[in-house]
Amino acid sequence: MNSSPLSSKSTKGRGAQFNPENRFDEIKIELDDEFDPEDAAPLKTQFFRDTTKKLVNQSDSPDLGPMTTLNPYRGCEHGCVYCFARPTHEYFGLSLGLDFESKIFVKDTAPALLEKELSKKSWQPRPVVISGATDPYQPIEKRLEVTRQCLEVFLRFRNPVGIITKNFLITRDLDILRELAQYQCVTANISITTLDAKLARLMEPRASTPQERLRAIETLAKHNIPVRIMTAPIIPGLNDYEIPQLLKAGRDAGAVAAGHVMLRLPYAIKDVFVNWLEKYYPEKSKKIISRIKAMYNGKLYESEHFIRGRGVGEYADNIHRLFSVSCRKYGLNKTPMITTTEHFQNNHNAQYSLFE
Ligand code: SF4
Repeated sequence: MNSSPLSSKSTKGRGAQFNPENRFDEIKIELDDEFDPEDAAPLKTQFFRDTTKKLVNQSDSPDLGPMTTLNPYRGCEHGCVYCFARPTHEYFGLSLGLDFESKIFVKDTAPALLEKELSKKSWQPRPVVISGATDPYQPIEKRLEVTRQCLEVFLRFRNPVGIITKNFLITRDLDILRELAQYQCVTANISITTLDAKLARLMEPRASTPQERLRAIETLAKHNIPVRIMTAPIIPGLNDYEIPQLLKAGRDAGAVAAGHVMLRLPYAIKDVFVNWLEKYYPEKSKKIISRIKAMYNGKLYESEHFIRGRGVGEYADNIHRLFSVSCRKYGLNKTPMITTTEHFQNNHNAQYSLFE
C-alpha cells in the first residue's frame, strides 16, 4: 500500500484522500519519484463477491452491552471520513483509506445464510442490528437488494431488526418495514451529523443529503415505524454546536428518540481525518484537534471502554449536557423504542435445520 496523496481526479467524491499503510503490512511500497499523482486515473468503485459462511455476529463489549449484528457488505461507499469501521478492511490486506470506500465486498448469500441461522433450533430470538459496521443502504444496495432480501427473511420469522443508515434508500423497503412494525419487530436509526449540506458532502460524500435523511425520518414515522435520529459522530468544534438544531429537525420530522456518539479515530483513521480536516477546514483544524485531544486524555483517540465514543473531561461533559437538555426540550427519548420477540415463528421444517 502507498500512503502518497493522489490526484484530485482520483479523490473527487471520496472521504479519504489517500490510502494509509495497512498496519499489518510488512512490505512498504512507495510511488516512484517520477510518478505524477495528477496522472492517476479517476478511482472507480469495485465490487467483490464475499463468500463468508458466517453472517451473524455476537459482540459483548462492556460499554455497548450484548449485541447481535449482521453486515450485508464489507466496506462502505458512503465514504464518511470519520468512519470507525474503516480498520476492518485491513484484515483483507487493504487500506482503511480509499480502499475502504472503493473496494466493496458483497455478501450476496446473506439472505440464505440468515434464513439458515434463524431456522436453527438453537437460535434464540433476539433483535439483530443491520448493520453494525457498514451501511446496509449504501448505493450498490439499490441494484442488488441484499438488505431488502434479509428484511424479507426477518419478516418471515418475525425476528426483530434494528436498522442504522445514512441513506434515503431505506424508504424503498417501506412495504416490508410496515409489516415488521405491525409485529413490533423493527426500529430505524437515521444518522444525521449536520444540516450543512456542504459539510455533509465533504464529510460523507456518497451518503444522502441531510434533507433527504430528514425526509426518510418523515416517511418512516408517517408509516408508524419508530425512528431514532442518531447524531453520530459529534466532532467537537465542527458539528457539536448543531446538536439542538439537529434534534429539533429530527423531532419535527417524526423521530421519537435520539442518540449520540463522539468521534472515534482508532489506528490510521486519525491520519485520514486530520488530512481531510487540513484540506477542507484549515482555519478550524487546530481548534478541532485540540478539542478532540481534550476529551481523550491528550490523545486523538482513547481505546478504553467507556471513554471511546464518549470522551472525558469538561468539554465532553458539556456536549453530553447539551444533548440531554436538547432531548428534554424536544421531547425525545421519553419512551424507549421497544421491539418484541413474542411473534417469532421458527420454521423448523426448513432444510437447514436437518443438518444441525
Ligand atoms: S455510512 Fe456508516 S458505515 Fe458507511 S462510511 Fe459512513 S459511517 Fe461508515
